[in-house]
Amino acid sequence: MSLDAELRAAFNGELVLPGDPDYANAIARWAINAERKARYVTFPKDTQAVSAIVNWADSNNIPIAVKGGGHSASGSSSSEDGLVIDLGRHLNKVTVSEDKKVFFIGGGALWEDVDRAGVENGVATPGGTVNHTGVGGLILGGGYGYLSGEYGMVVDNLVEVTIVLADGRIVTASEISEPDLFWALRGGGGNFGVVTQFVLKCYPQRPTVYGGRLFYPGERIKEVIEVARKWWNAGPSAKEAVLLTAARSPAREPVVAINVFYNGEVSDGEEKFKDFIALGPIVNTAAEVPVPVINTFQNTVAVHGRYTYMTATSQAGPDPDICVSAYHEVLKTSEDGAVDTAFILELYPHEKIASVPVEATAFPARKSQIGVLFMARWDEAGQQFADRAKNEIRSIKDVFIQGASKQAGLVDPEPGYSNYTSEEKLPASSTKNIFKGNYARLQRVKHQYDRNNVFFRWYGIEPAAA
Ligand SMILES: Cc1cc2nc3c(=O)[nH]c(=O)nc-3n(C[C@H](O)[C@H](O)[C@H](O)COP(=O)(O)OP(=O)(O)OC[C@H]3O[C@@H](n4cnc5c(N)ncnc54)[C@H](O)[C@@H]3O)c2cc1C
Repeated sequence: MSLDAELRAAFNGELVLPGDPDYANAIARWAINAERKARYVTFPKDTQAVSAIVNWADSNNIPIAVKGGGHSASGSSSSEDGLVIDLGRHLNKVTVSEDKKVFFIGGGALWEDVDRAGVENGVATPGGTVNHTGVGGLILGGGYGYLSGEYGMVVDNLVEVTIVLADGRIVTASEISEPDLFWALRGGGGNFGVVTQFVLKCYPQRPTVYGGRLFYPGERIKEVIEVARKWWNAGPSAKEAVLLTAARSPAREPVVAINVFYNGEVSDGEEKFKDFIALGPIVNTAAEVPVPVINTFQNTVAVHGRYTYMTATSQAGPDPDICVSAYHEVLKTSEDGAVDTAFILELYPHEKIASVPVEATAFPARKSQIGVLFMARWDEAGQQFADRAKNEIRSIKDVFIQGASKQAGLVDPEPGYSNYTSEEKLPASSTKNIFKGNYARLQRVKHQYDRNNVFFRWYGIEPAAA
């Protein structure tokens, strides 16, 4: 029997091979540069099928990649000439328990599936702010969203996972079952196996919230950041959040856009964000919206199928001088229209996240700071564009790094959120720098569950010596 036929017979699900009509679709990723020409793309129908695929790949010495939603720009859910286990076609169901205390979420579901099940049951949990992002990578890397002020990181709400290990065993991990593995899965990424189900706590949720987008001409960035700083320094309630994007509009006009979110009545939301509204945005869509709508605000810009470079850092808070200087770089680098550049301040009240001790989960970045995401997107193939995008983002990021050293109260401005990496190959020093004091324990768990490094993509963890 040929290897192809052997694999096809080995598991319950579909196999797509190079040359098949749906091959291009099967290897497509949110960022074009994350695509790789896999030799086998598998779509398992259940957890046993995942186990059979892992065993087959192991016995044939074929490298594995696991795809959830396919949004990592690093290529870590793709495999050049290897085998992909794509969970997105069948292992994507989301249900809510009868007592409405937890979500059961397939390892290949998208956040829109969670949002839909949540609104049908009057519950919610923190999740991704762009609803077509996958749950898999986002949860395993930590995860935050509009509800993080109230309920913390996504991993802080994880109750249990079902996971296929490197040797094909299927286990559940929780505080009481395989606790070390459970610790590592809360922030340590896809380094330990294939998660086919996540169980996440959920909370009673009103059906509508106050939210929307406010747009200002780019020349008003200093005033907008001053208001953002005042709002941030006043200590927003856990029910509020702001995402601030400094970029150009699709019509190439300099624009600063803020997403406002308040988990409550419109009148209270308008009061919370009155200083932003008083600035007189050129567009203000903020209104009472059904909960799932808040995770669609960015869908029109976060479209599939563009080349993308992302990276991140952290800051003590919004700083007008830093943001104005960085915005000059954004406008300069995006002037000719070949590469779109932007920075995004992620302003989620941090007390709940910081209330969990850093060593309680593998997720390492819990100090009270704001996240800054840098993004370049472009449409032309060619290394020169990739190099240019990376250099331009470096010049924007450098403004924040240099400025950060002058910010009082800032602890460790680099690195930023691990899930925003775009690098396919990261040296061990990067992984150590991300996980810091948690790295040694991750190495021990890696040795226990995947000592041959079957799951080696994303931030690789070197198994501890025996
Ligand atoms: C448009 C956009 C918006 C975003 N918004 C947010 C946000 O609001 N909050 C936030 O925290 N992050 C956000 N992110 C970052 C996001 O967390 C990462 O891109 C994450 O990798 C996406 O997960 P995925 O399953 O779609 O990715 P994939 O590319 O499928 O996977 C990423 C990594 O996770 C592994 N993986 C995925 N699923 C599984 C699984 N079930 N079992 C084992 N390993 C698995 C893959 O093997 C790969 O290594 C955003 C990213 C994008 C592109």
